[in-house]
Amino acid sequence: MAESKAASEQDDNGTDAGRLDFIREIVAADLAQNKNGGRVVTRFPPEPNGYLHIGHAKSICLNFGIAEENGGVCNLRFDDTNPAKESVEYVDAIKEDVHWLGFDWQDRLFFASDYFERLYDSAVKLIELGKAYVDSLSAEKIREYRGTLKQAGRDSPYRNRSVTENLDLFRRMRAGEFEDGAHVLRAKIDMASPIVNMRDPTLYRIRRVTHHRTGDRWCIYPMYDFTHCLSDSFEGITHSLCTLEFENHRPLYDWVLDSLATPCHPQQIEFARLNLSYTVLSKRKLLELVEGGFVDGWDDPRMPTISALRRRGYTPKSIRDFCERIGVAKRDSLIDVTLLENAARDDLNRHAPRVMGVLDPLKVVLTNYPEDKTEYFDCINNPEDESAGTREVPFSRELYIEREDFREDPPKKFFRLAPGREIRLRYAYFITCNDVIKDEKTGEILELHCTYDPESRGGSSPDGRRVKGTSHWVSKAHAIDAEVRLYDRLFLNEDPNQVEEGKDYKDYLNPDSLQVLEGCKVEPSLARVLPGTRVQFERKGYFCVDTKDSAPGKPVFNRTVSLRDTWAKMQKRNPPGGRTK
Ligand code: ATP
Ligand code: MG
Repeated sequence: MAESKAASEQDDNGTDAGRLDFIREIVAADLAQNKNGGRVVTRFPPEPNGYLHIGHAKSICLNFGIAEENGGVCNLRFDDTNPAKESVEYVDAIKEDVHWLGFDWQDRLFFASDYFERLYDSAVKLIELGKAYVDSLSAEKIREYRGTLKQAGRDSPYRNRSVTENLDLFRRMRAGEFEDGAHVLRAKIDMASPIVNMRDPTLYRIRRVTHHRTGDRWCIYPMYDFTHCLSDSFEGITHSLCTLEFENHRPLYDWVLDSLATPCHPQQIEFARLNLSYTVLSKRKLLELVEGGFVDGWDDPRMPTISALRRRGYTPKSIRDFCERIGVAKRDSLIDVTLLENAARDDLNRHAPRVMGVLDPLKVVLTNYPEDKTEYFDCINNPEDESAGTREVPFSRELYIEREDFREDPPKKFFRLAPGREIRLRYAYFITCNDVIKDEKTGEILELHCTYDPESRGGSSPDGRRVKGTSHWVSKAHAIDAEVRLYDRLFLNEDPNQVEEGKDYKDYLNPDSLQVLEGCKVEPSLARVLPGTRVQFERKGYFCVDTKDSAPGKPVFNRTVSLRDTWAKMQKRNPPGGRTK
């Protein structure tokens, strides 16, 4: 797992102090030699053709992090050269996500499309240098001529057009004189190169598609490989960090910049992309899940997108911590999603206020409790943070407890409520179950009749007598109705990218990834809870108030993650029952 990390974090936990990951090592060595005049300039270069996912977060943390640590800057640059798949909606969502993660590009928001004119000029220069030509083969023929990994490619019959003819054709391509696909501009490198990307790659193609920024001003668009290196160079990028699949593109990246003798020649460094278990991290696949209605939009809380993680209740810090923990390596691996969940728990444990909510309510009547009495118990908001204080929670004769906290016929090791058995209601009283009231026809348990021990007020034992179980509860008269959504993994298998023959990754979707619980009862302190608020329902996990579907007085809670440890452990650290009034 974590191969390496930033030095600061390592110093904090006392292990591996001072060890940098391989990219940070390169940057440190460059700084030590005063390469690039001691500057560090990085960029995060998303294509606005989908929402960002947790893999992008890794790249964002790396690029912005390295700049920050070294007194440098990181640009946000949209790589928007493929208008057919791009949109303003995606641009806006990406900006929101980067900011939310806690990073700021200040005034350095760039678009590759802003460079179209300069890129065109660079292409003209390559033609003049005899290093690019207009090819009029069909796309199919170009593919055929390219050869294979084992077999060298063949020169196009158009490869030796004169500079003058190439310049003329390229100008007319731009002017819109030709149909889409009639010609392309190609680099003139080497059709026999062992690196297929170097076999005269396409630099420009004709495409009559309206661009979300440049409208119909252009009908030719530059290809990624041509655009990316030059955009980096225009911006004075020092270290161009990208994922391993671009390793084969590096010779071309360098070739373009060398051929044009650009004053700035950034260093491309590749690192392993993040793969996360039980999900897919490919915009193409995520788009397919959205468009096919397999999920409810890009921010469906089951998705691995930043917007979905936000809606589900993940904090920016937990995502940054996760990225720090997994580190940066050169080798591809599959990261266990529990690492992400643990990062969420660690942060939420410190900051999420505790509340009581009953997800599957079972009514309890305290037959010896006065009918019209209400008591208020002081409940601790966060045992991890004394400054969070306490709140008052009302208690009365009729309550709800969790249906699973009662068994009529308890198996061994079931220590919660059962006929004749006594348990503690958290913060409140000891209660004993005397009667089980059932529906005569169906046998369903309708309510429990219990008695409480007034001497156990606050949940502490009056005479040293012990109870094994502690249940959370809400007062029936005071409870707020809520909907709760429980999420499970989106896919059934660990790596949905590995599919059996004849199968599709979508065949592995988990049919039970969403469970909606209606009729949940939560404590009244949540009556006016704001969308986006994160809480811990004691014993049930961390939840976040849904930002889309919650209504005033009827919150919808998304479960972020379940709790790792239950009350069994908590009680060791904190006195049972808490404080009382
Ligand atoms: P996808 O494969 O999801 O379509 P992409 O690489 O096409 O992703 P871009 O918008 O081009 O998406 O990515 C922007 C940056 O984020 C690139 O530098 C890319 O290398 C990086 N990136 C994309 N996916 C991951 C990942 N899973 N892990 C780490 N970095 C990633
Ligand atoms: Mg890409």
